[in-house]
Amino acid sequence: MDEDCKDKAVFFDIDDTLLDTSSFAELARHAAINNIVENGLPIEEEEAYDIFKEIIKEKGSNYGKHFNVLTKRVIGAEDPYLIALGMTTYHNVKFSLLEPFPRTIAILIYLKQKGYTIGAITNGLTIKQWEKLIRLNLHPFFDIVLTSEEVGYEKPHTKIFEEALKRMNCSADKSIMVGNKFDTDIIGAINAGMKGILVNSELTFEEEEMIEKENLDVTVLNNISDVDTVL
Ligand SMILES: [Mg+2]
Repeated sequence: MDEDCKDKAVFFDIDDTLLDTSSFAELARHAAINNIVENGLPIEEEEAYDIFKEIIKEKGSNYGKHFNVLTKRVIGAEDPYLIALGMTTYHNVKFSLLEPFPRTIAILIYLKQKGYTIGAITNGLTIKQWEKLIRLNLHPFFDIVLTSEEVGYEKPHTKIFEEALKRMNCSADKSIMVGNKFDTDIIGAINAGMKGILVNSELTFEEEEMIEKENLDVTVLNNISDVDTVL
């Protein structure tokens, strides 16, 4: 469904911008590995964790069968009990911890009150990314959620930003992208004609030089809770 852009829009990245995805995932992985080692995976916990990290690196974080591969690598065959135990622990821990960064909801309310249309532009699987917004109760604020899976292009490709602008009927020069990755969120947005706000990340010296040399419209904030100081 097409949404009407009022006259200005803010697009957010999801992972490590609205919520601390990386640290929740790491805690959940540790808990899962701990539980399956305690319940019979015949290997030291630390070693199991290293193998597990290797598997994630090989298969990508959205691969659905990390625990199958782990049991197969350690004991030579898949162990359904340990696989289910690992998956359940991982999901329970992750979703019990999951919360947005402080003041995220206050910022979204602030932006709505200021007349901004709000969208999400995210690299990842569509259902998984929606699930995060729904579990955090952030979904009512978003007019659109656009994923790389849906568009067929990942940030920083301009196509994903252009598609988001098109769907919200927004113009690039009145739109701002908020994200934690300079290379993908910010450069992609700038190349599509938008402004960028970098959060939860520090610029490298080279990036600072690039911004100055090319006169890029980039603001750097500590985190999402400071967005109301610039918009
Ligand atoms: Mg991110």
